[in-house]
Amino acid sequence: MKVVYRPEQTALGNTGFSPSAGKPALFVDLIKSKPGIEIFSDWEPVSREDLYLVHDPAHVDAILEGRKSNGFGNTLKTVADSLPYTSGSFYNAARIALQEGIAISPTSGFHHASYDQVMGFCTFNGLMVTAVLLKRAKLIESIGIIDFDEHWGNGTMDIIRRLNIDYIRHMAFSDQIGRNYDKWLKGLYASLENDFAGSSILLYQAGADPHIDDPLGGNLTTEQMRLRDRIVFRYAHDKGIPIAWNLAGGYQKPIEKVLELHLNTVEESLQSIYDL
Ligand SMILES: [Zn+2]
Repeated sequence: MKVVYRPEQTALGNTGFSPSAGKPALFVDLIKSKPGIEIFSDWEPVSREDLYLVHDPAHVDAILEGRKSNGFGNTLKTVADSLPYTSGSFYNAARIALQEGIAISPTSGFHHASYDQVMGFCTFNGLMVTAVLLKRAKLIESIGIIDFDEHWGNGTMDIIRRLNIDYIRHMAFSDQIGRNYDKWLKGLYASLENDFAGSSILLYQAGADPHIDDPLGGNLTTEQMRLRDRIVFRYAHDKGIPIAWNLAGGYQKPIEKVLELHLNTVEESLQSIYDL
């Protein structure tokens, strides 16, 4: 399974509450020697014009040129420079998934980014950049976004509405908050069948922040999160729908606790290929 990674997508020196900008390198270090994993670096970042497809061009320019704060609330050049690579990682993971069935993008910080606003550690919406680029390249008919981060993907919805996009179906974990999670998991496979039948590709945000110990989340046990991932990957595998997944949120300290949860997702995705 390819992990679509270039060192440029990791921004060093970003010392805010969210560890996301530095997470890709730590994650890749942890998994690079795992059997079944291949780090794939032969790809290009998205262009400024690609970002313009889903964001206000003036907003894109101001952020990339350090005149406007990014989603972390700073104007660090290292963060700005990493952004075409984070969206590029997800887009290329999706393209690889179309050929190989599955791929990993070690990225976060997408779904709160709206057409012309940053929010909640998210600057540009790599999910939407990916969706629109895939459609423009005529590589897909329809896309399913499975957003199982703890939080609501307000930025994704904003862009879908503003651009009148009708080829994306969207499922959010945040719609389940406060409900019976065992019951949700029991019905999840059927819900996926119901919502995503016939999708050309699934983009899966396997957020670590729904974990019960997460300071910004806190509902699912480690086992429930594994089951969540297992059901998603099994569904994609059973139906032959390509799936590209990424890390999304996770805020436990130390960061090893977050990485451990992401590692569980790696294991579940590998099992979906090799065991099921
Ligand atoms: Zn989140």
